[in-house]
Amino acid sequence: MTEIDVIANLKDVEAKIAAAAEDAARDPAEVFLTLVSKTWEADDIRPLLDAGHRRFGENRVQEAQGKWPELKDAYDSVWLHLIGPLQTNKAKDAVRLFDVIETLDREKLAQSFAKLAEDGELIPELLVQVNTGEEEQKAGVAPKAAADFARYCRDDLALPVTGLMAIPPADEPPAPHFALLYKLSEELGLPRLSMGMSGDYETAIHLGATDVRVGSAIFGPRRPKEG
Ligand SMILES: *Cc1c(COP(=O)(O)O)cnc(C)c1O
Repeated sequence: MTEIDVIANLKDVEAKIAAAAEDAARDPAEVFLTLVSKTWEADDIRPLLDAGHRRFGENRVQEAQGKWPELKDAYDSVWLHLIGPLQTNKAKDAVRLFDVIETLDREKLAQSFAKLAEDGELIPELLVQVNTGEEEQKAGVAPKAAADFARYCRDDLALPVTGLMAIPPADEPPAPHFALLYKLSEELGLPRLSMGMSGDYETAIHLGATDVRVGSAIFGPRRPKEG
């Protein structure tokens, strides 16, 4: 078995983020690195927490509930991002566990958050997921509908929507998708832009990303039990 040095990987990714930001005449401190720990266990994650990293992402509520309450108790100031699809019946669990939810993608879910807020739940920062490639199997609102949907959530429902998120099609160059997301965020005045993964985070930073989501470049290839 080869040991993967997650700390060396983290340093490497951080250095590349800083270089990409400087290259784009941006302040590296304005780019947040979310480490995507899906499929990895608490013991795999702890070394990164010990090294001082505090921002992580998970794509399933139930999986996150199995490891993060314990880790959040043990470490201060952890920021946990939900980056996978959220079912309405898990919305309450999600608002209680996550500090940012990046996958607001439909009215019914927005209305659930509004109802939870009425009931006194604290709603975390929300990003609207945009399906920039208009892929049928992928979550997210269509680019044409994104502005109206974001305004509905932010202005009509008074939800804390602060940005947009996208996962470009796997088989296309990501840059046009990142550029489209940036343009939408400018039109809406939403500052936070989550785009870029292990293979393309430097490109995303050049095109305005404020949040990059990096998994395999840190942890190695995901465990086969999940996709
Ligand atoms: C898994 C996942 C990532 C991380 O992908 P890597 O290519 O391993 O960096 C980023 N964003 C989302 C939404 C994911 O599901």
